Amino acid sequence: MKAGLLDFHCHLDLYPDPAGVVAECERADVRTLAVTTTPRAWARNREFAAASRRVRPALGLHPQLVAERAGELTVFEELLPGARYVGEVGLDAGPRFFKSLELQKLVFARILKCCARLGGRILSIHSVRAARDVLDLVEEHLPPSNGKVVLHWFTGSMSEARRATDLGCYFSINAEMLRNNRHRKLVSALPADRLLTETDGPFTRLGDAPFQPSDVRIALDSLASLRGVAPEVLASTVLENLRTLVSEWDALP
Ligand code: MN
Repeated sequence: MKAGLLDFHCHLDLYPDPAGVVAECERADVRTLAVTTTPRAWARNREFAAASRRVRPALGLHPQLVAERAGELTVFEELLPGARYVGEVGLDAGPRFFKSLELQKLVFARILKCCARLGGRILSIHSVRAARDVLDLVEEHLPPSNGKVVLHWFTGSMSEARRATDLGCYFSINAEMLRNNRHRKLVSALPADRLLTETDGPFTRLGDAPFQPSDVRIALDSLASLRGVAPEVLASTVLENLRTLVSEWDALP
């Protein structure tokens, strides 16, 4: 049987026609994690996701928005009991967002603590130029028994990737990161049982059009060729990894 696809990080609510994207996830058999950038987007995103069992909504507070929206942390905390998946959250120490890094750390630490307290959340985490800080905060506040971490578009060092693996993290890989030689080398060294795929659409583009969840096939194909396995084999591995991730969630106290 042909394995379906997985897009574990997609901004569904930022496409011009989210309902159409959901229908395409259903048609093309793409399990999709619909992340949000602010807690205020959660209700609408959850409605879109309800149209398909393949689409699951995630509650987020994007690090790039923390400077203006840290006040929405209370909304995040109110909504968290109803959210199994959390994202997009994390840290961004790139030049544009560096000045809010200290505030981002406070917000992210509080998000991790809330997730740990409730238990059983699966998080999609952004870590641009902040892999070490992200891992420090995860290690301090979210023990593996209290939640699961997926590092989205991870571009840290090889030793940070090993540390993340030891902490139980998964990695969601997109086509864009596989166009960079350093990141290709990093991804080729990750353990097979921690690999997931994503598009990060519509922020990533395929020619003139934003990546759609079904375009995650491109990430899958290039990841398969990088790792020297057939795309169908890798597709099964990715779905198996998703099953393990979710069942570890189910098994949490
Ligand atoms: Mn994103």
